[in-house]
Amino acid sequence: MDQTVLVTGGAGFIGSHTVLELLQAGFDVIVLDNFLNSDPSVLARIKRLAQEPLSLGLSFKHFEMDVRDEAGLIEVFKAHRIAGVIHFAGLKAVAESFEQPLAYWDTNVGGTMALARVMKRFDVNHLVFSSSALVYGLPKLIPIQENSELDAVNPYGRTKLICEKFLTDVCFADSRFNVALLRYFNPVGAHSSGLLGESPNGIPNNLMPLVCQVASGERAQLSIFGDDYDTADGTCIRDYIHVMDLAQGHVLTLKSMLGLLSLPALSRLSVLNFGTGQGVSVKELVDCFEAVNRVKVPHSIAPRRDGDVPILVANPNKAFESLGWKANRNLISMCQDAWRWQQQNGLHL
Ligand code: NAD
Ligand code: UDP
Repeated sequence: MDQTVLVTGGAGFIGSHTVLELLQAGFDVIVLDNFLNSDPSVLARIKRLAQEPLSLGLSFKHFEMDVRDEAGLIEVFKAHRIAGVIHFAGLKAVAESFEQPLAYWDTNVGGTMALARVMKRFDVNHLVFSSSALVYGLPKLIPIQENSELDAVNPYGRTKLICEKFLTDVCFADSRFNVALLRYFNPVGAHSSGLLGESPNGIPNNLMPLVCQVASGERAQLSIFGDDYDTADGTCIRDYIHVMDLAQGHVLTLKSMLGLLSLPALSRLSVLNFGTGQGVSVKELVDCFEAVNRVKVPHSIAPRRDGDVPILVANPNKAFESLGWKANRNLISMCQDAWRWQQQNGLHL
């Protein structure tokens, strides 16, 4: 296809699966990552899984670099003809964002600004941005549509919201600039080979990696944050989406922006939810994980977590209408694939 995509944060959880899908789709890929929350060995695993497309001559490079390093970015953009950028690099833990707001604003907002500046300088005009369902704050209507009110309730969510607004302004001011703001709900699961998955450095913050670590005995028990929410079983409800479905959604988004889909191209500024449309409570996820994997996940009820939203479920219709995308993998696959990854690799490579 002879089109090069720059993927910031491409060694991370969603990034690594997306890079694999981009290579399978015939794109040349450049990964830019500082490995703050990933391990460089993931790149060799991607190569192994993408042997076939790589044997046809595709290019797959990486740069160990901070996305805020503007001088470094300039060198990368100078040396390559980049067709589009997928920007995953960032910090993503709600609790940590209360403790370290400076780091969150600096990395998430500063990184996005540095990247946009360099993209404009080199006339690279297609950007896919990793946003989050957290920009909806405490939604009034479930399932949530893209045109719902926006009002993030924690520092991490606020950094995503401000990046969305910043990129919207850039788009309004420059008719050549195209942005897709992708609002992910809760990505979980792993590649079915067990070679790619989620491997956070240190103690994970998200539910699924914690469930995996408890099931494997690496951690004694799971704390369920609150069982007094206004939901059927009292625990929070989320819309869990398999990371491979999400990765495929990124490829379709980029193809649409580059005019490579048979459907009409996305508008210059598009906002898309990526979720399944199905709500699952914390207890339901734990029960499903135990049942399909035949393991125990000892758990107890703990106080509510600051900044948690009771229910977040997507209306994913717009992604279907504009890209023909829908989630194909169910909660059972998410639990099985996450557990296979845990068993084959542990969370620490
Ligand atoms: P991740 O931590 O696994 O991946 C992020 C990658 O970015 C890591 O490889 C990390 O090393 C890298 N990185 C961090 N700071 C960097 C910097 N300053 N310069 C260069 N690289 C840097 O996270 P993920 O789950 O793959 O999330 C990817 C994106 O999606 C993030 O922007 C996140 O906010 C967003 N998102 C994630 C979720 C989720 O639940 N996983 C939900 C909504 C949105
Ligand atoms: N959760 C939990 N225990 C944990 C981690 C998470 O009960 O140790 C709950 C959390 O309160 C939320 C859901 O699991 O309701 C998903 O949390 P996660 O951090 O994975 O994603 P979020 O939707 O908060 O970004």
